[in-house]
Amino acid sequence: MTDRRIASVCIVGGGTAGWMTAAALANRLAGLDVAVRLIESEEIGTVGVGEATLPHIRAFNTTLGIAEPELMRATEATYKLGIEFCDWGRIGDRYIHPFGNYGPVDDGIPFYHQWLRLRAMGDTSRLDEYSYPVIAAEQNRFRHPASEPGRVESSFGYAYQFDASLYAAFLRRYAEARGVERSEGKVVDVALDGGNGFVRNVTLADGRVIGADLFIDCSGFRGLLIEGALQSGYDDWSRWLPCNRAVAVPTESRGPLGPYTRATARTAGWQWRIPLQHRVGNGHVYCSDFISDDDAQQQLIDHLDAPMQAEPRRLRFTTGRRRDFWKRNVVAIGLAGGFLEPLESTSIHLIQDGITELLGLFPDRGFAAEDIDEYNQRMALHFERVRDFLLLHYVATQRDDSPMWRHFRALTLPDSLRHKIDTWRTRGYVVPYQFGLFLPPSWIAVMLGQGLVPGACDPRVAGMAAGALVKRAAALRAEVADAVRATPDHADYIRRSPAAAGLAA
Ligand SMILES: Cc1cc2nc3c(=O)[nH]c(=O)nc-3n(C[C@H](O)[C@H](O)[C@H](O)COP(=O)(O)OP(=O)(O)OC[C@H]3O[C@@H](n4cnc5c(N)ncnc54)[C@H](O)[C@@H]3O)c2cc1C
Repeated sequence: MTDRRIASVCIVGGGTAGWMTAAALANRLAGLDVAVRLIESEEIGTVGVGEATLPHIRAFNTTLGIAEPELMRATEATYKLGIEFCDWGRIGDRYIHPFGNYGPVDDGIPFYHQWLRLRAMGDTSRLDEYSYPVIAAEQNRFRHPASEPGRVESSFGYAYQFDASLYAAFLRRYAEARGVERSEGKVVDVALDGGNGFVRNVTLADGRVIGADLFIDCSGFRGLLIEGALQSGYDDWSRWLPCNRAVAVPTESRGPLGPYTRATARTAGWQWRIPLQHRVGNGHVYCSDFISDDDAQQQLIDHLDAPMQAEPRRLRFTTGRRRDFWKRNVVAIGLAGGFLEPLESTSIHLIQDGITELLGLFPDRGFAAEDIDEYNQRMALHFERVRDFLLLHYVATQRDDSPMWRHFRALTLPDSLRHKIDTWRTRGYVVPYQFGLFLPPSWIAVMLGQGLVPGACDPRVAGMAAGALVKRAAALRAEVADAVRATPDHADYIRRSPAAAGLAA
């Protein structure tokens, strides 16, 4: 039998996507005699933003055998319990989308149905009061989840807010220690096989020619191989998510250290605030149809809460995804595969999805069309699910105070999102996806947080005795409040742990 195993992989690009991919391949292909090489160009550099993550990144790091304190020290990381959204439903509103549930699930019915019933009876408690991570975040407290199921302190997940450039550098050390070869240089030419159109090799500016069986395009927005050489095509989703620019700036750390990222809606976009140990990352994502670059930058500066540490940096992007993430012998991961604005911190997660799916369908040199199709369908779904969830934030709102918000009022939604919102409105049912990143509690957080309250609760809850519901709810609120009172301050928790870096100073 002919040996058709992949013997060499070349990753083009050394940003977060490139080094995450390199580290994962070094780990998962260890002992299989596959040579992995990464090419990066210091002259071109990386996108240099991307600080907020999702809880799934912990599984990625654990698989690689990376210890949390070591990672946090190396990347100036803080803990993240969710995202605070300000001014989204209406100006003055705020809510936290937590990594966790609201109350328990009784007989298959999530607790928020009981809350809806209580609310209809005149109860004024916030749904947040039944969520340990929301109340802990509001009070700037953090602890690791308890291992005993049933305790409210076990009802949440957490992620990190970190310096993504330091994360890439950390993974570079990891990957190089496990045999990944790095070539510094700028790719100036990509040669295709005259027969099957596969990428055969790339040429660097100094004349070096690097060939491989499998190429992974992590070259960022430009998509050097997937688009530049193979013309995969791009599905532009600007009609749904029109924000296309950002301006980013770090500031000094001031005040309490929040275990959450903040996203504040503005007139033509939104502003992020991400606290790390040694600084705060800030940025304004906006749509150039509705605000000029200078005004967007000024709006960002006007809303900073501490002195800037550097000059603001401007970035441009087009929301969407490659038509083919995988074409012939090239797989695009990271910004080379597509981009969705960072409102829910999903980009690094989509890198992780790309790597996981690739490892699951790792090819041989036959590059079976079925595997490629499956990969492309899966990645398309990953992106579409995130797109719908992001769009929800812009359409579940009463805001109409600027041209951007009026634009969203008039928008025709993707059918998948329309269906989800309509079903929610009638009786508070969240249509579960077979496949997709954000689970019902996330949808509930945003829909209720932005004032999309359903007309009724689950009929089974409507039949429950009112007195028992009131008593139960009070007990749950007390349990959350007590647990949060016993939770340490976030900054102290890090400072006293081996995860302390900038905070130790
Ligand atoms: C404004 C903004 C905010 C964001 N915030 C978040 C966030 O909070 N959370 C999150 O998860 N994600 C966020 N992201 C996304 C995140 O930054 C990216 O997903 C992540 O950094 C991965 O980027 P990348 O590695 O694909 O590309 P890049 O960082 O652009 O890296 C591309 C690499 O390719 C190399 N390269 C390019 N061309 C060549 C060439 N010709 N020869 C050799 N090398 C080449 C470059 O040198 C570089 O090493 C944000 C993105 C933007 C734009």
